[in-house]
Amino acid sequence: NANLADLDPEVAHSIDAELTRQRNGLEMIASENHTPVAVMQAQGSVLTNKYAEGYPGRRYYGGCEHVDVLEQLAIDRVKALFGAGFANVQPHSGAQANAAVMHALIKPGDTIMGLNLAHGGHLTHGMRINFSGRLYNVIPYQVRADDYRVDMDDVERLAREHKPQLIVAGWSAYARQLDFERFRSIADEVGAYLMVDMAHFAGLVAAGLHPSPVQHAHVTTSTTHKTLAGPRGGIILSNDADIAKKINSAVFPGQQGGPLEHVIAGKAVAFKIAASAEFKERQQRILDGARILADRLTQPDVAAHGISVVSGGTDVHLVLVDLRDCELDGQQAEDRLAQIDITVNRNAVPFDPRPPMVTSGLRIGTPALASRGFEAAAFSEVADIIAEALIASADADLASLAQRVAALAADHPLYADVVPFGAG
Ligand code: PLP
Repeated sequence: NANLADLDPEVAHSIDAELTRQRNGLEMIASENHTPVAVMQAQGSVLTNKYAEGYPGRRYYGGCEHVDVLEQLAIDRVKALFGAGFANVQPHSGAQANAAVMHALIKPGDTIMGLNLAHGGHLTHGMRINFSGRLYNVIPYQVRADDYRVDMDDVERLAREHKPQLIVAGWSAYARQLDFERFRSIADEVGAYLMVDMAHFAGLVAAGLHPSPVQHAHVTTSTTHKTLAGPRGGIILSNDADIAKKINSAVFPGQQGGPLEHVIAGKAVAFKIAASAEFKERQQRILDGARILADRLTQPDVAAHGISVVSGGTDVHLVLVDLRDCELDGQQAEDRLAQIDITVNRNAVPFDPRPPMVTSGLRIGTPALASRGFEAAAFSEVADIIAEALIASADADLASLAQRVAALAADHPLYADVVPFGAG
């Protein structure tokens, strides 16, 4: 029973190095967050040892009396948080939640509609080599070329023409809100199910700072680790009792074996936190930070370098930077910010002329910084640093920007009580 640092210094060293990286840099990947220590404690517990195939009260293994309590807590909390009559908290990830819903409601060969990946959709919304693209006939919809909003008239036209069995509404790289009501009325008109994938904006919904899809969709899926700030994982919500039964059997035994009860315990903790006033205040800072960043990246000094913001701003936790008219491509911009310890990801923008591995965009999110306490002044400073880095000449010395990043990180300590393993 040796501890990790003694038993496996190589692994311990890598974990310590990652802790240092997260502490010293600024994490601005829109899908990431810094989960609370309490969530990590739940995940690092003896629950990882337990098999619990089935559902609370209906398990295929003995010894489930404690995990039953935990899983029921997670279910009850997430139902209350989002006003859903049913929740399944077992999906191992967002992708598996989406796979389970499709498995439950439609058959291979059926037609689905989802936002084109190149316009901000997710892999599981119908990308060609994803299970969703291989099993189903995919009709993608897209954003309008003039204002970069999802084109609901196009969604309606395509739905009438192709009569999908399922319409997916949701996104991974889109900075505006969707019209869930209109999506539902289109789905109803053509006899399709509406699945909303709120993975990115679930935290904003929980805080009441973004319209909730739960009352409009037949099924709502989410990850638990993005704005929601919990452990990595997925959930499925519905208000329809028949759909609920199908979802439960699609998750287990349809898609998964034993649930990850240590992760489910982490989800329960995250849902408790998400119902708090502190969480709502944090989600507000996420939104404020994204708006500050979008405002800065639309100023004339930035625009003069051919840099703009897709759709001109943001209503959510992320900004999609448009580099189509800039010499700097997405890869170079990502690398440049990495040099000053700001982590973002390059991302295709709609109608992107550059190849997918290079791209003409950056997706920049504020959830992780809000979790480490950033408020307006700190977000303004980081927005200035990003703007200056992006407009700097190719041979510019970025050391002073890196120092400003280090100062922001030092002012907002992360995981101050977490003790490194200290191996080797
Ligand atoms: N759905 C959306 C909209 C996402 O953005 C993501 C992840 O980025 C997922 C689903 C998949 O989640 P996971 O990575 O947990 O499978």
